[in-house]
Amino acid sequence: MRAFEHFQPSNLKEAIKILSTKDKEARVIAGGTDLLNAMRDGEESPECIVDLKGLKGLDYIKYKEKEGLRIGSLTKLGSIEKSSIVKKKYPVLCQAAHSIGSVQIRNMATIGGNLCNAAPSADMAPALIALEAECKVQGAKGKRTISLEDFFAGPGETVLKKGEILTEIIVPKLAGKCFGVYIKHGLRKAMDIAIAGVCVIITKERGKLKGVRIALGAVAPTPIRAKNAEKILLDGSVSEDAITEAAEEAAKACFPISDVRSSEWYRREIVKVLVRRGLRECLEKV
Ligand SMILES: Cc1cc2nc3c(=O)[nH]c(=O)nc-3n(C[C@H](O)[C@H](O)[C@H](O)COP(=O)(O)OP(=O)(O)OC[C@H]3O[C@@H](n4cnc5c(N)ncnc54)[C@H](O)[C@@H]3O)c2cc1C
Repeated sequence: MRAFEHFQPSNLKEAIKILSTKDKEARVIAGGTDLLNAMRDGEESPECIVDLKGLKGLDYIKYKEKEGLRIGSLTKLGSIEKSSIVKKKYPVLCQAAHSIGSVQIRNMATIGGNLCNAAPSADMAPALIALEAECKVQGAKGKRTISLEDFFAGPGETVLKKGEILTEIIVPKLAGKCFGVYIKHGLRKAMDIAIAGVCVIITKERGKLKGVRIALGAVAPTPIRAKNAEKILLDGSVSEDAITEAAEEAAKACFPISDVRSSEWYRREIVKVLVRRGLRECLEKV
């Protein structure tokens, strides 16, 4: 690992100042579970590291009935997994957090790091995209809010500009009766990166289907939403044929790669299976 400068700012303003004024290639570090491995493997060699761990006020989970959920970017995945309010209001987020790595990883890894690392397989992304989450970011030029669906620019790339830090994830309140699932398919049952990750969320109001959201991970350069698949159920009847058609449509939204974990063909096939399974489970339980 090459030598690097290390900064430990005590507040967000200071962190942004260091990041935006350094000429050297600067990176922030949160839990370090992605970045340190990349540095050790020589995939990343920043000249300057800005450690966010000393920042106060970015590690929280807050829920308000009108506004929904707000999660600070330095919140650990383990805290999300165990949060009683998240379990009650957005259990699909606990499910997604639980699917990640091991207890040790989840106790170090942050939600901000999971999103900013921008791995197509990041397990928090499909669940948060399906929940129509937004990201609050702050940089030298001020604050902005970005829909999570627009946050990813490619494998390992986000739309964050130089000096910007992700500060908060906002999950809107869900209307009506709702049920969601996150289904992760990997080579192993534990400690494995997804071959495909599928999140399905169904909402009903007064017994009528109101919303269908399907988001996919690890099957395209970025996590994606399968809107054409959602429309099939929203515009037509909820039959077994419609479920199969929606699953086929979801597979068409994918641009998977073949790699050590899976072939492109298998990823599309498994998306069909997982979307069908997710839709059936949600429709049954909502
Ligand atoms: C053994 C092992 C198993 C794993 N299993 C899984 C798994 O099953 N599923 C999964 O999704 N991931 C998995 N991961 C990956 C990793 O743990 C997660 O992506 C983690 O959430 C990253 O968070 P972090 O805080 O450690 O990020 P860091 O490593 O600190 O940072 C990751 C990247 O995000 C940037 N960053 C971090 N926070 C911010 C911020 N607030 N604003 C701007 N940029 C920021 C950093 O500059 C860096 O580029 C695994 C990792 C390991 C080592």
